[in-house]
Amino acid sequence: MFHIFETDNRVRSNLRNIHPYEPGVSEDTLRKQFGDKKLVKLNSNENALGPSPLAIQAIQDELPKLHLYPDGASELLRKAIAVYHGVEMDEVFAGNGSDDIIKLLSETFLDADDEIVMPFPSFSQYGFGAEVMNATIRAVPLRKDFSYDIEAVLSAVNERTKILYLCTPNNPTGTILKQSDFDWLMERLPAHVFVVVDLAYDNYATSAQRFHLTRQALEYPNVAYLHTFSKLYGLAGLRVGYALGNREVWSYVHRVREPFNVNRLAQRAAVAALTDTNHLHRSRELAMRSRLQYASLADHGFEVVPSDANFILVKTGNGWQTFEYLRAQGILVRAGYPGLEEYVRITFGVDEENAACIDGLLEVSKQPL
Ligand SMILES: *Cc1c(COP(=O)(O)O)cnc(C)c1O
Repeated sequence: MFHIFETDNRVRSNLRNIHPYEPGVSEDTLRKQFGDKKLVKLNSNENALGPSPLAIQAIQDELPKLHLYPDGASELLRKAIAVYHGVEMDEVFAGNGSDDIIKLLSETFLDADDEIVMPFPSFSQYGFGAEVMNATIRAVPLRKDFSYDIEAVLSAVNERTKILYLCTPNNPTGTILKQSDFDWLMERLPAHVFVVVDLAYDNYATSAQRFHLTRQALEYPNVAYLHTFSKLYGLAGLRVGYALGNREVWSYVHRVREPFNVNRLAQRAAVAALTDTNHLHRSRELAMRSRLQYASLADHGFEVVPSDANFILVKTGNGWQTFEYLRAQGILVRAGYPGLEEYVRITFGVDEENAACIDGLLEVSKQPL
């Protein structure tokens, strides 16, 4: 007998409403579209200087051992991170990118009908983790200048809130959470809320008022701090990130992670990258120079959101139109963020790439809307 398998009715019902994450167009797709034409890829907050050379060397040294499973506990990596931050090894959790850790925290904490609170606009993966678990998302708009509205964040918290996400510098706005605002929140937040502070771009931040990861911050039992090797360290293609926080929380997260969630090359490369201060300084300097380059757009009537990250949000009037115009010239930026229809997000490139993008923006500003 012939049966019809109704996929839509058999999968978990909340999955029907989830839209798969749409990343900035990948290198491979671009090659198909543009062939050998030179491209300026400023759409995924990748490091324009490439990976740390020490990481590349570590990968080469490790290649002959690829037939062996990695260390499931990522011990060498967690040890190196613990030393780097001055914490204990069991306060460090390693993941297949911090995306992995966001999903694992969602699986660890969220039951159906639990709630998360997150800023808006911000990194979509927080909401994705909640949707997968059939939890409810409370998105709290940032203020007009993209600073945190901490009173609104606090009022969004209720007895069902399991996780509060704070992203600083925030993606896609590049703006920071102030230390004083973090302290204000921590004094008032109910003890049952677990706070995830995403520091993916923290290494680029320079504002004096920004949240700082201190020993005291690490002692909150209900806070985890996320870091990634994808941005400053230039290892986005490897997939490795980590989180610092309460060892008891990690003892549960270990129960839901895959047994070998960080691959062998990623573990070795990340350890090497951590020691590569030369690459780190060059990457930071490039971000500082790039901020100055893009600041010149303000002289031409663009609103440029002051950035503490390795990207910048620029108001062009019509984000998609700007995107299309730049794309035709082989310059890829990001547009279409909900709530930011008038903006594009531009990842910092090397000096010439930034100059090309700025020229393109000046041209597009002459086009009729
Ligand atoms: C890029 C990014 C991450 C890191 O993602 P990985 O999975 O580690 O590559 C995390 N949070 C934010 C806000 C980001 O922009």
